[in-house]
Amino acid sequence: MTERIAYTRPSITELEVTYATDAARNGWGAQCYDYIHRLERDFAVHLGVSHTIATSSCTGALHLGLAALGIGPGDEVILADSNWIASVAPVVHLGATPVFVDILEDTWCLDPALVEAAITPRTKAIIAVHLYGSMCDMDRLLDIGARHGIPVIEDAAEAIGSAWGGRRAGSLGAFGTFSFHGTKTMTTGEGGMFVTNDPALHARVTTLANHGRDASEPRQFFPTVTGYKFKMANVSAAIGCAQVERIGELIDGKRKIMARYRELLSGLDGIALNVEPEGVTNGFWMPTAVFDRKTGVTREALIRAFAAANIDARVFFWPLSDLPMFEARPENVIARDIAGRAINLPSYHDMDEDAQARVAAVLTGLLKAR
Ligand SMILES: *Cc1c(COP(=O)(O)O)cnc(C)c1O
Repeated sequence: MTERIAYTRPSITELEVTYATDAARNGWGAQCYDYIHRLERDFAVHLGVSHTIATSSCTGALHLGLAALGIGPGDEVILADSNWIASVAPVVHLGATPVFVDILEDTWCLDPALVEAAITPRTKAIIAVHLYGSMCDMDRLLDIGARHGIPVIEDAAEAIGSAWGGRRAGSLGAFGTFSFHGTKTMTTGEGGMFVTNDPALHARVTTLANHGRDASEPRQFFPTVTGYKFKMANVSAAIGCAQVERIGELIDGKRKIMARYRELLSGLDGIALNVEPEGVTNGFWMPTAVFDRKTGVTREALIRAFAAANIDARVFFWPLSDLPMFEARPENVIARDIAGRAINLPSYHDMDEDAQARVAAVLTGLLKAR
């Protein structure tokens, strides 16, 4: 049996080990926030934003931001149907109603025309998720948001290294959120980041994230609102500080893996990969192969072929509206159609050329077999 090829795996060097060890040994008492604050500063510099708050997850960061915008029962939030549950769970927990719109065929991100058509007097936010590193059309979304007075939020969990023109993903909207889960481009084990250029929003989220304790409140242990507990641990932040120091290398690694897949699959008719339109940078968190309709290759055939080759490949996100807890949206045909003929390819940082060739061989084999 050939060696199993993993789907993702973080890139951990002596630097991460050194910082984490230091945090475990010394990061207590008066030092217990040192790595957290350093990570917040370093990530703000990397991204080009004025305010950052480290969180226990991206889901938590989204929850805080949506709560700080005052989103609750009776409100509607628009997002793409093709998404992981994490992008919508906070909307549901806050009592608001998600409105799922269809995606674009090439970027797999929400269709701005459908976003605008879905706006009602109850719409309180648009969540732009940059799927697999592919940027949403931020010019059109920000224009729609501005014209209707609706904040555009960026869930940039998958978009470290992605940019819209000269601006990094996550820095363009009312706020942005990131995930440092072990499968993401940079990791803290579990963790996330809330980012914004809006000082008032930053102040509200700071209070909410610290159990409702306002920084200007003189009394100890005196919360003024019921907040949340979504803080990052200092030991986790220490790992994150090393990862941010290496962020250029981590992003380059992802782009190199994508370039190699493109080379291995070039000249093949019938497979579309992640796009990078003019003026846009794609961080290529997750290389993804979408088979043309005419090939007849399905998700089920892809799962079988990769399992047989001992390769851990993952399905493209099911439309959220196909899940039992949401109302069906049969009109979102592109989201359903693409998920039915696509697969995410392994892309861990130290993946070697032989492993990538084995992945490519499975894809080529499916095309030949039809
Ligand atoms: C991974 C991911 C999340 C969830 O991140 P956590 O840190 O696990 O909460 C949210 N949104 C998107 C787009 C993701 O890819």
